[in-house]
Amino acid sequence: MRSSVRLLAVAAVCLVAVAAAGAVALRLRAPATTPVSSAARPGVPPVGPATAVAERLYLVPGGGCNTAVFITATGVVVVDPKYATAWPDLTARIRALTDTPITHVILTHAHPDHAGALEVLPPEVEVVGHLNAINRVTGYGWLKSRGATPNVRVFADRITLFAGADTISLISHGPAHTDGDALVVFHAARVLHAGDLFPDTVAPIANIEGGGNGVGLAHTLTTAASAIHDVDTVITGHGPVQTWADFRTFAGFVQMLVDYVRAEMGFRKDKNVVFRAIPIPPQYAGYHLDRLFNTLDEIDRSIRPRWQRIF
Ligand SMILES: [Zn+2]
Repeated sequence: MRSSVRLLAVAAVCLVAVAAAGAVALRLRAPATTPVSSAARPGVPPVGPATAVAERLYLVPGGGCNTAVFITATGVVVVDPKYATAWPDLTARIRALTDTPITHVILTHAHPDHAGALEVLPPEVEVVGHLNAINRVTGYGWLKSRGATPNVRVFADRITLFAGADTISLISHGPAHTDGDALVVFHAARVLHAGDLFPDTVAPIANIEGGGNGVGLAHTLTTAASAIHDVDTVITGHGPVQTWADFRTFAGFVQMLVDYVRAEMGFRKDKNVVFRAIPIPPQYAGYHLDRLFNTLDEIDRSIRPRWQRIF
């Protein structure tokens, strides 16, 4: 049951990633088209109840992705507001926690299952995300209702929000799951929201059409694993909460995939043979690797030029 839920979640992300990428291409040619983020979403688990992850920090699952809700001294900060269709249920879950107004929405990236609710967000809420993620959601038309000068803050490498016990950092190490990912660190709580950089203990997605990069995914994870020293707990994009040790293990897993593709793939090598022959070390035995072939292919597409990959 658990594994079928995970499968559904990952499949949904994958489809969403492809839909989002398609929307970008379409947007460039036909500006009137926007993704169907407010359409009915059969198969998406309902928005679940909030569970405490740390003091003043909650996880709200379902409705597209894992959402973090952080209650600061001056307002509620929401990381990843889910599909637009889930926004009413998400706000109801937040209202059950506090009367404090929602002042900020942070994006881990621009996919609709995480960021689609920007389409229906009240204009007074400030949106914070990577420059490339904000450019994408602007292209989708999701910030249209927010006026000519939308209430948006962007960053390229790192940005720090708030102060003291409320301090939050957003960190990017370059293209990985998409070209606009953010690792969101709640310093006092010692919690990281990793978004789809760590979606679950699964083979992750490097959404090439969305600017992602398989090698960059390993780079981002391994850099974070060695550079971040004040995190104990990790909120994943779609799965259960993990420990920092689990995050480091996952970073090692993705680096292992990149090393394998680099060593084994080459001119006239058949991916149908090479990818299916990958040995999986025992520490990853509990991972759900149903899309492993696709992940390896995304890594290969990030390494080798297209003309080398036709044999
Ligand atoms: Zn995603």
